[in-house]
Amino acid sequence: MTALLETRNITQRFSGLTANSDVSISVGRGEIVGLIGPNGAGKSTLFNLIAGAFKPTEGTIIFDGEDVTALPAAERCQRGIGRTFQVVKSFESMTVIENVIVGALVRTTNMRDARRKAHEVLAFCGLDARADVLASDLVPSEKRRLEVARGLATEPKLLLLDEVLTGLTPVESQKGVELVRRVRDTGITVLMVEHVMEIVMPLVDRAIVLDLGKVLIEGKPADVVRDPKVISAYLGD
Ligand code: ADP
Ligand code: MG
Repeated sequence: MTALLETRNITQRFSGLTANSDVSISVGRGEIVGLIGPNGAGKSTLFNLIAGAFKPTEGTIIFDGEDVTALPAAERCQRGIGRTFQVVKSFESMTVIENVIVGALVRTTNMRDARRKAHEVLAFCGLDARADVLASDLVPSEKRRLEVARGLATEPKLLLLDEVLTGLTPVESQKGVELVRRVRDTGITVLMVEHVMEIVMPLVDRAIVLDLGKVLIEGKPADVVRDPKVISAYLGD
């Protein structure tokens, strides 16, 4: 079976700075893949290129067998690339359920259907009791789960998670790990960007390490954490 997502020779330059250099990765259907690496490695850049926030300087992005490189973010979302959004200011003044309805409206124009879907996703994420509070009143770990809920409401085939487990207490982080596992168990493929290796390694099927914009190594978590190249990249961080 072909991969769900493939990036082929992606290069991204920002006026002189090369944030991604010849990055070719693939994510298989049903996998949880961790995209890790030190600060500034180019993880968020690659994530944004996959989601369609901007187009790569060079290279191709194949999703579900089709070239999506030229497609805008909204069209990629329609095709099944869901992502976590940072809870931006305008959404903070909306309630939790309203935020999730925004995601659900990607799939339906019927408000009752969107609301039903949003409730279902909030229950899945353990946020149903918080449905009617303002997003701005959530504690940080709940805001992370709201981002996941909004991404899930778009009914993605691939869910992109950018640092959703970072900065949580050990208990919250464990709950986050369980949530990601349950997401995958529903058949959704997960590509997650994390800076902190200890959090992601026990969770992922495969890890891809970026350093200085390039793929340093990829493989099973146990092999990746022991690789001298990875250790020195992180020590230099
Ligand atoms: P990571 O997420 O791994 O920490 P980023 O992808 O955010 O890394 O950044 C990689 C490099 O690209 C950094 O040097 C960063 O400053 C630079 N960069 C990221 N986005 C932009 C942008 N929009 N304009 C200019 N430089 C950027
Ligand atoms: Mg980042």
